[in-house]
Amino acid sequence: MNLILMGLPGAGKGTQAEKIVEKYSIPHISTGDMFRSAIKEGTPLGKEAKSYMDQGDLVPDEVTIGIVKERLSKPDCEKGFLLDGFPRTVAQAEALEKLLSELNTKLDYVLHVQVPEEKLVDRLTGRRICPECGATFHVEFNPPKQDGKCDVDGATLMQREDDQPETVKNRLNVNMEQTKPLLDYYGDKGYLVDVNGDKHIDDVFEQIDEKIGGLAK
Ligand code: ADP
Ligand code: ADP
Repeated sequence: MNLILMGLPGAGKGTQAEKIVEKYSIPHISTGDMFRSAIKEGTPLGKEAKSYMDQGDLVPDEVTIGIVKERLSKPDCEKGFLLDGFPRTVAQAEALEKLLSELNTKLDYVLHVQVPEEKLVDRLTGRRICPECGATFHVEFNPPKQDGKCDVDGATLMQREDDQPETVKNRLNVNMEQTKPLLDYYGDKGYLVDVNGDKHIDDVFEQIDEKIGGLAK
């Protein structure tokens, strides 16, 4: 089960990834999460990534491709993987294709979660994440059981630095420009599956589950 989750920031990729991983036990590989933990640990990778991320810009391809290559080569990816936030450019998609063929495997689906643009700003500015486990909540649309605390481990929830209203708009613009060629790329190859993300979290998952359930058999 080799999957990619695509969609603009705030479309619900992380939220759906949590559900997919829970049901199908494949590793969730989020380049954004990998960069955030590198920043937290203060590694050279983290220092480089931070300067781009704070602006809402993309981290350079060579850096990003390098960390994905390393991750996909680990043994836990042999039964499948869920990529989230990668690829974001056609160069990254081409590098991925080459890597998968070296690993003797290929993609199954690219799940494209679609949400009208005007709803994304509210989703992003209201997003809260757990700094310990990465779980995602929303102050209004998906609130934690106890105000400001993670349901999983009780840690104090935080707002991501790039979820400030000023950064959010730049991120959406950068992403929209970058996404179109990528959607064309995967559409042409026949991997693309449209998912309506403008529904309740459980209804979005149902659409995904229906599509990928067959792969698990
Ligand atoms: P992405 O990983 O695509 O950037 P997230 O999964 O972090 O998106 O979701 C962005 C925000 O929107 C989070 O605060 C999340 O709780 C909320 N959210 C996710 N899916 C939905 C949904 N179907 N309806 C309403 N809010 C949602
Ligand atoms: P979101 O989907 O909410 O924008 P992510 O957590 O996927 O957030 O990414 C946060 C930031 O990490 C991006 O704005 C970008 O700076 C960097 N990043 C993540 N994935 C990539 C990638 N594939 N290529 C380049 N930069 C990336």
